[in-house]
Amino acid sequence: MPIHICSACGTSYPDAAEPPRRCPICEDERQFVPSRGQTWTTPQSLGGGHVNAWRQLETGLFEIHTHPQFAIGQRALLLRTDDGNILWDCIALLDDASGALIDSLGGLRAIAISHPHYYTCMQDWARRFDCPIHLHAADSEWIMRPDPAIRHWHAETMAIADGVTLLRIGGHFAGGTVLHWAGGAGGRGAILSGDIVQVAADPGRVSFLWSYPNMMPLSAMTVRRIADTLAPWKFDRIYGAFPGRQVMSGGATALERSATRYIELLKGDQA
Ligand SMILES: [Zn+2]
Ligand SMILES: [Zn+2]
Repeated sequence: MPIHICSACGTSYPDAAEPPRRCPICEDERQFVPSRGQTWTTPQSLGGGHVNAWRQLETGLFEIHTHPQFAIGQRALLLRTDDGNILWDCIALLDDASGALIDSLGGLRAIAISHPHYYTCMQDWARRFDCPIHLHAADSEWIMRPDPAIRHWHAETMAIADGVTLLRIGGHFAGGTVLHWAGGAGGRGAILSGDIVQVAADPGRVSFLWSYPNMMPLSAMTVRRIADTLAPWKFDRIYGAFPGRQVMSGGATALERSATRYIELLKGDQA
């Protein structure tokens, strides 16, 4: 029996003769059920009409995204370290070419994911590369397909390789996580942010929302806490969730400036 994948959000569900009746990820106010209703696909039919595209973002960092766009349309990032490769965030399609390319790069040491919208088919990636998946425990209720590869972490930070640290900053999800890469941007440091810190259309701005599709904000207090949590970490670049969305320099300044402005607007201090 196949696993079933929600066509709207990319979340996978356990193998069964029939797809589930509902997708709780889509029914949550941070996602949505499409007006056509909930529809489902399988890995085989997804692979029949889609491929993964690769792009090198800088030395040691690759983007993988699915073409044509599927579900939310995020990218996964493959980060190369001296301790092995890390897959940051996940996408539903694991095609043969991506499997072979990752094998040739040395496989995966671990998968780490920013929040439940990108859990997708993490279980299949973990099985293919025989590696653990690091998820923050605060979001465990959103795992729709339990798997022995999943490891919950509970702290506020966790190092997963030399110079690679997961930072739990919350906001969009209680366990919302970004990855700090000390060696990124030529040693100036980088943050891989998923949509916990969302890189905006202006490449010098980021934003922070409770719900992106439904445009619901976070509180001023939460945004201040996120900016203050990231302030001690050195970084110049921010790689967001979607292809083309990155702050290539001045990332720490852009984040603080964006947070300050966001809080001004929430408080009515527009002038
Ligand atoms: Zn869904
Ligand atoms: Zn999200």
